[in-house]
Amino acid sequence: MGIDVTKSYLPPLEEYVGYLAGIWERAYLTNSGPLVLELERSLKEYLGVKNLLFVNNGTIALQIALKALDLKGEILTTPFSYVATTSSIMWEGSVPVFVDIDPKTLCIDASLLEAAITPKTVAIMATHVYGNPCDVEAIEALAKRHNLRVIYDAAHAFGVTYKDNSVLNHGDISTLSFHATKLFHTVEGGAIITNDDELAHRISYMRNFGHNGPEAFWGVGINGKSSEFHAAMGLCVLPKVDELILRRRELSERYDAHLVSTGVRRPRIQEHTTRYNYSYYPTVMPSEEVLLAVRDALNAADIIPRRYFYPSLNTLEYTGHQPAPVSEEISTRVLCLPLYYELTDEEVDTICAILKSALQA
Ligand SMILES: *Cc1c(COP(=O)(O)O)cnc(C)c1O
Repeated sequence: MGIDVTKSYLPPLEEYVGYLAGIWERAYLTNSGPLVLELERSLKEYLGVKNLLFVNNGTIALQIALKALDLKGEILTTPFSYVATTSSIMWEGSVPVFVDIDPKTLCIDASLLEAAITPKTVAIMATHVYGNPCDVEAIEALAKRHNLRVIYDAAHAFGVTYKDNSVLNHGDISTLSFHATKLFHTVEGGAIITNDDELAHRISYMRNFGHNGPEAFWGVGINGKSSEFHAAMGLCVLPKVDELILRRRELSERYDAHLVSTGVRRPRIQEHTTRYNYSYYPTVMPSEEVLLAVRDALNAADIIPRRYFYPSLNTLEYTGHQPAPVSEEISTRVLCLPLYYELTDEEVDTICAILKSALQA
C-alpha cells in the first residue's frame, strides 16, 4: 500500500457516532448549534485566544477577514503560500503585491516590505509558512508606522506559540484552516481570530448573511457557517491534538537524523517560537533536478511526496508577472515528505533510504 504525503487523522468511530446520537435527538443540524458553540469555546481555550469564529473553510475565513476590515487597494503578500492566500485577495477586489521571502524561514521577508508600500497600500497579508511564525514584530511595527492592517494566513499555525503566546494573537485578524489535510481538522472548516471585540461582532453578522434576528439585517453578509457534523469531528479530534503533535515531532526528528549529513536543507524555525506544531516536513533540495530525481524514486516505490508550494504564486497567469526571485527559485526545490500520525518509524527509514540513494545517483 502506498504512502501519501499526508493522511487525515480519524478518531475512533464510536466517538463520532456518540455525537451523532445527540444530533439525531435534537434534529438541529446547523446555524450555531450546541456542538458549534462547544467547539468554539474549546478552541478558544486550547489556543489561548479571545474571539474565534468557526467558519466553513479557511478560504472564506480569509475573504471575510478582508471584507470585515473593508480593504480595497494593494495588499502586500507572500508569493510562497497556498493559492488561496492570493486568490482571496483578488476575489475580494484587491491587488496582491508580492514581497519576496526570507530564504531561511520561507516566510515573507519583512525587511523588503517598506520598499513595496505605495499610496494605494492598505494591508499586509502574510502566511506563517508550515506553521513557522513570520517576523511578527517587524511586520507589526511597520504596519503601525504606515497605518496598514495586518492579516495572517495562519492555516498551518494551529497551536503554535511565539514568546509563549499564541501566534494567532498577532495582527488585526488571523485565520485558520481545518481542512482534512491540516493538523487539526473538521473535514472542511476554518476559523477567524481577532482580539478586537467590535470586529468579532461584525464578523459574526457577516458569517451569517448579515442576519440580525429572523427579519432584520445588520448589513451585507455571506454564508460562512459550519454545521453540527463538522463541529462533532472537531470535538473528537481536539482532545487528540497534543498527541498528534508529539508523534509528528518524533517522526520529524527521525527524518532530521537521517538527513543531517546530506545536502538536504530544512527551513529555519523563527527565533522565539516557543511551541512548534510539526504540521509538515518540508525539505529544500540542492536543485530542482535533484528534487525531481528524489520524487521519481519515491513515486516508483508508491510514496507520494508533494511539491508544496509550487509554483510560486507570482508566476500565475492572473497575478501580473511581478518578480520574486527567491520564492521562484526555492519553490522549485521544496519537497514535503510524508508526515502524519500513523506513519511508522520504519516507513521514515524506508523513505530516507530511497531519498539518499537518489541523492547519490
Ligand atoms: C489550506 C490552506 C488554505 C485554505 O484553506 P481551506 O480550508 O482549504 O479553504 C489557505 N491558506 C493556506 C496557507 C493553506 O494551507
